[in-house]
Amino acid sequence: MAGYTPMIEQYLKVKQEYPEEILFFRLGDFYEMFFNDAQVASRELDIVLTARDGGAEQKIPMCGIPHHAVNNYIARLIGKGYKVAICDQVENPKQSIGIVKREVTKIITPGTVVDEMMLDEAKNNYLAAIVDGEHRIGLAAVDISTGNFLMTEFTGLDRNIKMESELQRLAPAECLLPAGSSLDSLWQDNFSEGFLLTRINDNIPGLEEARRALLQHFGVVSLDGYGVEGYTAGIQAAATILSFLYRTQKTHLSQLCSITAYENNAYVELDSFSQRNLELTANLKDNKKEGSLLGILDYCSTAMGKRTLRSWLEKPLKDIDVINKRLDAVDELNHNVQIRMDCHNLLQKINDLERLAGKLGSGAVLPRDLIALKTSLGIIPSLKNLLAAAGSSYLQELSRMDSLSEACNLIELAINDETPPGVREGGIIKSGFDSEVDELKNLSSQGKTWLLDYENRERERTAIRSLKVGFNRIYGYYIEISKANLNLVPSDYSRKQTLVNAERFISEELKDHEEKILGARERLFELEYDLFIEFCGRLQPYIPALQNTAAAVAQADVLLALAQAAYLNDYVRPVLNNDGLIDVRAGRHPVVEKSLATTRFVPNDVEMDLDKARFGIITGPNMGGKSTYLRQTALIVIMAQMGSFVPADAAHLGIVDRIFTRVGASDDLSAGRSTFMVEMLELARIINNASRNSLIILDEIGRGTSTYDGLSIAQAASEYIHDQIAAKTLFATHYHELTGLADSHPGVFNLSVSVVESGETVTFLKKVLPGRADKSYGIHVAKLAGIPAKIVGRAYEILHGLEKERTHSPAVVMEQLSLFEADKDPILEELEKLEIDNLAPRDALTLLYRWKDQLKQE
Ligand code: ATP
Repeated sequence: MAGYTPMIEQYLKVKQEYPEEILFFRLGDFYEMFFNDAQVASRELDIVLTARDGGAEQKIPMCGIPHHAVNNYIARLIGKGYKVAICDQVENPKQSIGIVKREVTKIITPGTVVDEMMLDEAKNNYLAAIVDGEHRIGLAAVDISTGNFLMTEFTGLDRNIKMESELQRLAPAECLLPAGSSLDSLWQDNFSEGFLLTRINDNIPGLEEARRALLQHFGVVSLDGYGVEGYTAGIQAAATILSFLYRTQKTHLSQLCSITAYENNAYVELDSFSQRNLELTANLKDNKKEGSLLGILDYCSTAMGKRTLRSWLEKPLKDIDVINKRLDAVDELNHNVQIRMDCHNLLQKINDLERLAGKLGSGAVLPRDLIALKTSLGIIPSLKNLLAAAGSSYLQELSRMDSLSEACNLIELAINDETPPGVREGGIIKSGFDSEVDELKNLSSQGKTWLLDYENRERERTAIRSLKVGFNRIYGYYIEISKANLNLVPSDYSRKQTLVNAERFISEELKDHEEKILGARERLFELEYDLFIEFCGRLQPYIPALQNTAAAVAQADVLLALAQAAYLNDYVRPVLNNDGLIDVRAGRHPVVEKSLATTRFVPNDVEMDLDKARFGIITGPNMGGKSTYLRQTALIVIMAQMGSFVPADAAHLGIVDRIFTRVGASDDLSAGRSTFMVEMLELARIINNASRNSLIILDEIGRGTSTYDGLSIAQAASEYIHDQIAAKTLFATHYHELTGLADSHPGVFNLSVSVVESGETVTFLKKVLPGRADKSYGIHVAKLAGIPAKIVGRAYEILHGLEKERTHSPAVVMEQLSLFEADKDPILEELEKLEIDNLAPRDALTLLYRWKDQLKQE
């Protein structure tokens, strides 16, 4: 570093420790960036890149931002996935000898943000860590803006897949991963995209060390109270998060006052494909909440409620009693308009208590946050009364939330209702709270009276009527006299500043006074700041209770939102069973029904069981409503199991353990997989993981390859699911050949979407009825889409030609149906006996099944 100025040397020393972060280096009123950081920041933030003499005859690239605007710039860098290290002056420059001491006081990464400007209020901002243990993967996730701290583990051969699904659900802003571990290579192979990754180079703490770290952080002697017994890699993941936070946050983190271990098998498993495909929390088009189920159900009034609703939606339950507890509460709120409206009005006035607790715990709280806290807590007693008047046990439980009246009173006594935005310019502490503050305030207000008096005195003495006493930050107090009156200025004034029309002076008396007043103001501001920090410390013990209250408010808000959605959208309470029956009368798709502008949604029934009607094959024209029907069935099940009413006239629903969907063609070309490969991976995942209690939704399989390959795969998969897994399945397909399965497989039934044909026009009725369809009407849809008439006409010609050609000699058809290789010869003999000359593949299949059945019976 030889030759650099001492300041740049100091910079380089700090930077060495933070190579990955953009270093914001405090110089006076600015944060400066140098070298490569300056180049990156100037490009990303669109700020001017300059150069500074760095010693050794070098010009160093530099750019800077004013300290008061720093949050805005940090937010932009974090939004682009950068990490920022803040290096502050840690001693008073006036008192320092030589160069001011500077230290990194905080590192901000996407997963450790607490500033609301950088956060989405409706989403948790998780920092996750995954650790590979013996035959298990530990996952921990923390949202330091709220204090949510979770841990879980995944076991079994498919633990990687389960872990990926859970990560997809949590959607962490950042994920910590031990560098070079087996998870690291798994990550690189499978999901390098989509998550911001921070590799941890330090050793991951061993189990005992991790346990000790948690005990120490929570200040307890045993972890039993958190339900984490039996966890190992989960505990290591949690400790990895804590050590990362200590390194980056450099504060006490008292908002992390407990950790919750959760078992994934308490919830319906939704793999990451299904989460996306069903558009639960974001639409597929632009990944926004609008157009998703969450968008439809979100009648929440509070930010905490919005986050909780999302997590209920992503984690439908499996325990009927717990679901019914939620449904009872929604039912009551749905019927009791008065409670619903009154609660809604109160909730709207409650701020984000969870994030306020987070700010308090991480030392980022501002005076006005405490006022928001006080005002919100002031609403709680009325909310409690309303909930206590309700009959359902869940609402009763919530009514017992703590209103933290003691903390509320403390804030009321200490903090001014009208506080300035910052903490350094006074105006925070209420009169009567601290005698020294009162004294200093007195001094400065006396100072103001003295100034008025002085101004009057001087006007009289000098006979200048326009004489004014004023103050500015640079020159302090001054006496302003217009140019016209300069001849009247007394000799004891000394000139300070010249303006266009006036001159400014100072007198001995004014100068003495200035020292007194400014001294008092400075002392007052410092004292108020110190008292505020001390006061925040006094509020720390209330954080756990505050978090509990926030959680109760959030749940009340979600129950109300579900009741409101049920009321406004005409949903019905589902009746749940453990017998695997699904009986939905006049079910609707909750999102599509809202999006239709000119037509009405056509409701449809679903009837399924674990036996005779477990595998539904839906055929029918393009645009007929098949996908909508499949998705609405999955969504109705999810809604019911999260505790919501459902869009139907009546619904009896058997609890499902997992929902799998294979919907549409999604390319994953970036990961080097073709459409067909993705389709097959999804199918493999379903086949390997589904159980009898799962719900499988298949919307076309095998379409990404040649017809007979596709048909063969579709049929083989269907047979396997029907025979071996026996899960309830709905399969929409254009392979009409598959409808033949219903003749040979007892659990298979056919459904089709109805169409009315009249001459050239085709009307899609969107009604799903029993039976099979025989046409796809694809060309008709092409016509609707605006394909020129010439092309449509020619397409019909080709179709007719093909339809003729599609009948072949039985031998050719059987050749093409390579799947049935083993059965071919005896079938051909049978066909010869029947003297059939021409055969379409579909007919061949039908005959095949009949023949197989006959064989069985014989
Ligand atoms: P394809 O075979 O081409 O994929 P599909 O049969 O799966 O078509 P959908 O995508 O479900 O058809 O439906 C097509 C459009 O019809 C939807 O975008 C929706 O707007 C409308 N639709 C679907 N179902 C209904 C319904 N039950 N009532 C009213 N409109 C519906």
